[in-house]
Amino acid sequence: MSDLPKINTNAPAPPGLEGEGFFATKLSSLIGMARSYSLWPLPFATSCCGIEFMATMAPNYDLARFGGERMSFSPRQADVLMVCGTISKKLGPILKEVYTQMAEPKWVIAVGACASSGGIFDSYSVLQGIDKVIPVDVYVPGCPPRPEQILEGFMQIQALSQSESLRRRDLPQYQELLESFNIN
Ligand code: SF4
Repeated sequence: MSDLPKINTNAPAPPGLEGEGFFATKLSSLIGMARSYSLWPLPFATSCCGIEFMATMAPNYDLARFGGERMSFSPRQADVLMVCGTISKKLGPILKEVYTQMAEPKWVIAVGACASSGGIFDSYSVLQGIDKVIPVDVYVPGCPPRPEQILEGFMQIQALSQSESLRRRDLPQYQELLESFNIN
């Protein structure tokens, strides 16, 4: 038997007005709730942190409890790019291509020290963090991070997707962010 703490992953109702026989809320809150409990991860796993991601998907940790069990290896059907492992400079453009093929709204998690900062590989061939080529929403520290930390990172994305304004992706600031990475 696992001695992990039990987590209630039933989606709580968004904030709203409740009375006898009715519940009213904002459409944006409802969409945020639906998005956050149906995130489809794309695991971009290149090395050891990928093994930790596999453990996160396995029954002991069970990412499915958070609605994230449907992995996608096609960027066009993915919401969350989870970069797990060392990314060489040669691989950088391919990672960027995968990111640009994902539909909006999309989020990115840098899983582990290598994806976040190059980790121990301070060398000529390793990208010193994936945020050199794509925007990152959540950084998960560790070499490797434990599955609990990856779950925590995933929950941070859930919180972001719940609270994000429906118009954020149309704002000039978001376009500027993408342009700063040469993404149109
Ligand atoms: S952060 Fe550590 S465990 Fe993860 S890919 Fe890099 S070297 Fe491997």
